[in-house]
Amino acid sequence: MSYRGRFAPSPTGALHFGSLVAAVGSWLVARHAGGTWLLRVEDIDPLREVPGSADGILKALAAFGFEADEPVIFQSDRNSAYEAAFEHLRFAGHVFPCWCSRADLAAHGGLHRDGQCIARPDPARPPAWRLRSPDRTIHWVDDLQGPQAENLREVAGDFVLRRVEGLWAYQLACVVDDGFQDITHVVRGADLLDSTARQIYIQELLGLPHPGYLHLPLVLDGTGKKLSKSEQALPVDPADPLPALCRALAWLGLDVPPADTPAATLAAALEVFEPAALRRSSLTATRTL
Ligand code: GLU
Repeated sequence: MSYRGRFAPSPTGALHFGSLVAAVGSWLVARHAGGTWLLRVEDIDPLREVPGSADGILKALAAFGFEADEPVIFQSDRNSAYEAAFEHLRFAGHVFPCWCSRADLAAHGGLHRDGQCIARPDPARPPAWRLRSPDRTIHWVDDLQGPQAENLREVAGDFVLRRVEGLWAYQLACVVDDGFQDITHVVRGADLLDSTARQIYIQELLGLPHPGYLHLPLVLDGTGKKLSKSEQALPVDPADPLPALCRALAWLGLDVPPADTPAATLAAALEVFEPAALRRSSLTATRTL
């Protein structure tokens, strides 16, 4: 199948410099491969969503010269697909209801690894639903970060697929939608490197193909933490896109002068882009901004 990539922002605030870098990176790798580039709004968490930010992010991406090749999908429209995947896993005995509190988990070193709830079932409260993590090391080769290995039980434990509030967990929704959109390559920030083993395992249980993975280095704040939308870090100005776009390109290792428009600047970047030259390690934004 030919290359199909995507950028999948969560609407938890305005587009910021770190997300712009991920958008630029995923677009460049997809276009360099002659592939399709899609957009997916990951609006599955109304508790973290900032009203208006999905629209704001999509408008900002358009102002930065990005155009998805197919209609944008919204995870808030995809409930029945997540339900079907969840029921498949439940029927096969891979998930279990869990009433464990944070204190119960803290007593177990913070992670759930028992394959069954360690608290007393409480019919008066809805449970979270967890996936049983096997004691298995998942190996994969990241296209930028190289060979990876993660033991599911050690690192992830029995992780939540459906939250107490009835909300779907990112891991499930992401896998279902990468499958639904026939994504062959996932390019995203390195903060999600340690979600990859979980996602590969869910793909296996659901009989979905495994995409390739490329994790871009992160844009860090002055304290060494990832720039985060939820902290409103370094929003970029869609009304004046060229400076931030060139900074994002430079941050990925591409020295491209601004062209007349963002789309022309992206096209010029594509001419000189080589995936092998991508920066691999995360950097503090203040050193380059
Ligand atoms: N929605 C996630 C984020 O904004 C990205 C998910 C992904 O690319 O798999 O961090």
